[in-house]
Parts: sequence; C-alpha cells; structure tokens
Amino acid sequence: MIENLTNRLRKSLRATPFQDDTLHTRHKQESEKSGDDLLVHNISYLFTCDEKEKLQCLQKYSLVVSGGIIVEVVPAKKVSPRKFRRVYDAGMRGGIVVTPGLVNAHAHPPMYLLRSAMMLDEGESINETIAAMPLWERAMADEDYAYSAVGDITEQQKAGVSTTLSHYAVHAPIEAATRTTKQNVINAVSVASNSHPENSPEMVFEILKEKTRRESQLAVSLHYVHRADAGILKKIKNLTEEHSLLFTCHMAESAEVAKKCEKIHGLRETAILEKYGLLSPKTVLSHVIYVTDAEIKKLIRNRVGIVHLPTSNVIHKSGTFPLWKFRDWGGAEQLALGTDGVVSKSRLDLLSEAYQTRITHLYDRTVKFGSLFKMITANGARVLNMPDRGKILPGMRADLAFWKLRDRGFIPFDKKNPIVLIGNLITHGGRMVRDLMINGEFVIKSRRHTLVNESKLLEILQKRHMAMRRRMSKSRPL
Ligand SMILES: [Zn+2]
Repeated sequence: MIENLTNRLRKSLRATPFQDDTLHTRHKQESEKSGDDLLVHNISYLFTCDEKEKLQCLQKYSLVVSGGIIVEVVPAKKVSPRKFRRVYDAGMRGGIVVTPGLVNAHAHPPMYLLRSAMMLDEGESINETIAAMPLWERAMADEDYAYSAVGDITEQQKAGVSTTLSHYAVHAPIEAATRTTKQNVINAVSVASNSHPENSPEMVFEILKEKTRRESQLAVSLHYVHRADAGILKKIKNLTEEHSLLFTCHMAESAEVAKKCEKIHGLRETAILEKYGLLSPKTVLSHVIYVTDAEIKKLIRNRVGIVHLPTSNVIHKSGTFPLWKFRDWGGAEQLALGTDGVVSKSRLDLLSEAYQTRITHLYDRTVKFGSLFKMITANGARVLNMPDRGKILPGMRADLAFWKLRDRGFIPFDKKNPIVLIGNLITHGGRMVRDLMINGEFVIKSRRHTLVNESKLLEILQKRHMAMRRRMSKSRPL
C-alpha cells in the first residue's frame, strides 16, 4: 500500500527537470572534476548554536557537505572552491544567511485539505468547528491524507522547516509523503484517535512487523490522555521502551480537557503519565497550559519535551502557556515550537510562530530573539531526540536553510552587530527560503521545489478539496 501510494504521488507530482540558469545560479557544477562533496562557500552570515548551546554568528565561513553530513565548518579564506566539483556560492549578489533547517515539533499534515473548510468558514463558533473536525476528516480517503501531507510539508519546507513531527491517525499516507518530499518526519500514529476510533496500539505493533524500510520515523501518539484506558497506556509504555519509540500527545490544552481527564480517571494528566512511566525525555507534550506549579517542576525534572503553540492557543481561545515558569525553573532547553495544523494557524512557518511567542509573553517579559531561534533549531532537535540535527557543526546532518540577505526580511541591519539579523528574520521574516537542503540534498533550489511540481499539487488539492466538500454536504448540511 505504501509503495502504491508513493508511486501515485511521485508520478502525479513529478517536478519538471531543473534547469539552472547559468548566469544567475549560485549552484555551480563542473562535470570534469570528480568527487561529490559540496562546498557551500563564502556565507555572509551563518547562525547556529554551538556545542555549549551558545548562539554564534559566523561571518564569511564555508561548509563542506559529504554524504549528507556537514564535515567541515571553516573560514572561507582557508578553502579553495577550485578543488570542488559542486559549489554553492553564498557570497554572490548581496550574499546569503545560512541557518540550520528549522524543526517543527508539532504538526498535523493530513489536515491540509481542510484549509478554508474550517478556519475560514464564517458563522461557526470554535466549539462547533472543533466538533465538526472529525466529520471532515472522515470525509477524506488515504490519498487525500497523502496529498494533504505533501501540501503541508512542502509549505513548511518553503519556510525553512526541514524536520517535522506529524501527529495523526494514519501511517501510510505520511510515509508516502515523506518519501515524496524527503522531509525528516517523525510519523506519530495515534493509538486512540478522535477521527479514527478503530485505531489501537496493535496497529503500531503491526507496522513494526512490516518488513519494508521506513523513511519516516515511527512514533506513538494520543489525541488526549483521557482517551486512553490503562491497557492502552501500558502498551504505549511497552512500545516506547521495547521499540525505542517517541510518544507524543496534546496535554492540558484547555481547562475543559484537564477537567475531563480528572473526571474520567480520577487523576490529572501529568499524574496519569507518571503512573504509566511516560514522563521521560522520550515524551513530547504539546500545549501544556493547564498545569500546576508542582506539575511544571515534575515535567522539567523528567526532561519531558514541551511544544508551545501560541497561535493555535489564541485562535482556539485555549489560554496562555506558562512559558516563564518553565524557563525560570530550569526547563528552557526543553521548549520547542510547532505549527499545529492549518485549522489552528494561518501559515505553516516557524518564524511567525517565534514572533507570536515573543508578542504573546511580552506583557510579562521579553523572550529574546536568541532564545526564540534556539526553540526552532537546537531545542526542537533535542525535544525530538535528534542529537545530530538543529545545529551547524561538523558531524551534524546537513539540514540547512539559505535565506537571501538582500531582502526586506533582513535589510536594513546593523553591520557592526549582525546578530540583529536573527531579530529581523523573526520579526520581518516568515517568508520563503531561497534554497533548502535536507540530508545534504537540495529540495528547494532557487525558490523552486526540486521534487514536487507545485502547480500540479495545487491543482490536485483543489480538486480533492471540492470532492471532500461534496461528500460532506451529503453527510450534513453546510
Ligand atoms: Zn495539535
């Protein structure tokens, strides 16, 4: 099934062969030379956290990428581009800013087809919208989920995101979309789902038994803690321990959800996760709004990953995440950001989410731009247990976002204090990358996707969206 689905996606979305304009391209390739190492040369400004988590701004540096890994980070003057067959010239035409590929710690890619079906439909209260969500989701088939996921992931890629945690109830469509887009994806399959009540932990055991090689990284998810009984929670513990899988769920997203859990189980969400041994660095919790001080301290002590989703929280009137408590009590490095799905956010990019974080908490104190940058790079990778991503250092995977410097997102800036470019990127950015490299391969080159024909993709999404609306109008009046 995964093979068939992937083949259908690839066939229908195949990008036309990429033709470099030799006059304007930064990508240079000389056929007479041997070797496949790539030199990213003469980077105007390179931003990354170092081994000690300190934000660095390197000027006029070069990177050598080999076999999908960053093998060297050196001053540009110490390396000769003539030795390389493949060179990316980051110094020409105003220059380039390079950051690590961004890490999105919470998303729902199969819901992309619901854009404009949900958030923009007027006249409905948010509660009606949320109640209608599973109805819409059930009006979709596996191919809809797969094309949706390609739509969602490619939009993220254009905004510099190279790693995504997908929290959803289906596995094969996400795996097919991963193969089609080459994104790093954690494929967290819900074992007690709102939209797919037939799901169970056994489904994940079955996936583990399959012999096919998976390109997405399998994980376990729960929509909400209160949806699982003791049997399910024990099996989740077993999956995370025996098969070393991550576990993720929405937690304490609203006062209602927090109360519901106490009512059904007689325990709060944190206590239930603790009881079943699920408070660990292999757990990723999103939202985490209605938690007590003691619970926050417990989550920090157990190094649980926390995903903050400020736009979603405002749109759904969920409440405000206790960011300062987490930070003041030692949990700063466990905090990542996510986009959530299109029903909960206008654009699927992390820079605008970092900006939203800044303005959400501004009444108390200012979240510094450096901290926001960490949340979408090094912290994101840490929360997702990916120690070889989120930083630009020798030995790390080559996930790189290339941003044009001569752009309204950056200019003007203080040349004597270029660290301010991070503030400009977050405040005025949130726009497209010029190029995006994932595992050493350019998936966006000169602003074009190298694997997916976007115009074809939009055409297919539009057709499938209308077909979904027709099915919905038969099931309930719109
Ligand atoms: Zn969510």
